[in-house]
Amino acid sequence: MKVARLYRFNDIRIEDMPIPEVGPREALVQTKACGICSGDILPWYIEKKAPLVLGHEPVGVIVAVGEEVDHFQVGDRVFVHHHAPCLNCRYCRRGHYSMCMTWRRTRLIPGGIAEFFLVPEINLQQDTLKLPDNVSYEDGVLIEPTACVVKSLRRAGLQTGDIVLVIGLGVMGLLHVLLAREYGAGTVIGADKVASRCARALELGADYAINVSRENVIEWVAMITEGIMADLVIVGPGNREAIETALAAAGKGSTVLLFTPLPPGEKLPVEPYRLYMNEISLVPSYSCGPDDTRQALSLIQQGVVTAEKVITDRFSIEETPLAYRAMAEAQDTIKAIITFP
Ligand SMILES: [Zn+2]
Ligand SMILES: [Zn+2]
Repeated sequence: MKVARLYRFNDIRIEDMPIPEVGPREALVQTKACGICSGDILPWYIEKKAPLVLGHEPVGVIVAVGEEVDHFQVGDRVFVHHHAPCLNCRYCRRGHYSMCMTWRRTRLIPGGIAEFFLVPEINLQQDTLKLPDNVSYEDGVLIEPTACVVKSLRRAGLQTGDIVLVIGLGVMGLLHVLLAREYGAGTVIGADKVASRCARALELGADYAINVSRENVIEWVAMITEGIMADLVIVGPGNREAIETALAAAGKGSTVLLFTPLPPGEKLPVEPYRLYMNEISLVPSYSCGPDDTRQALSLIQQGVVTAEKVITDRFSIEETPLAYRAMAEAQDTIKAIITFP
């Protein structure tokens, strides 16, 4: 079978490897589609893991199951989460699934951008979901990214009527816009340097979209909110400047949600006095767990999130380097996916 393996940020090769053998409690999936994740295009983050078969947002059809598998059968259309928690450790019991050692260790074999992938027992048990008939494979690709946003807005404590500022309007920013609206945000403001992304945010329900290549976010948020500033700021880009902007745009009693990691060792200048006196919380949100993927599937089933709204580019597995570059350039491409016959 063919797989797309990344060696360095700009070196992705299409290689052949044997189809994995299926153990008694495992399943083999023929891949139908897989997304290129926004996290995969952070050079420092992805090169740390290289060489690796790309892709952790796959959907497909089960083509083989081990003899002890009884909940799934050949022909099932499925979403499979790349990571699965043990549900027993102290982190799982407290709901912090992405802190679980099992969650961190588990992975699909060899990865999602492969013609077939093996689902280990624990992934099959904890976080493999059958796709309802009205959910297409392309919609299914959005389960994992949407689940990350479900978790992010839960951790951020979004309340009805909140003024929400979303910095960065790539696919994850736009999913934040869609879900913030769905969860009852009062005012949704987007910010990005690309005009087409700002336009799409408005189409998807944002009340305002600030083009940061021309306009000052802080001034605009002050004007729109009459000085109240934002109750919740989602920071998409993984850089210091974006976090500093977010802190400056955060109002009293607000939360600044860090959605993307910064490289290890990077420091942030914060003024604790201002955080304290204004009760501003800084909250990170890392990936998602099985509760979130279920909620994401339900939002997709209801049509809150659909492929049509955010998937802009489709490529074959041979074209993976192109798909990857289109995502990394962060211009008109919102979400690139790899589709399989
Ligand atoms: Zn992802
Ligand atoms: Zn655990």
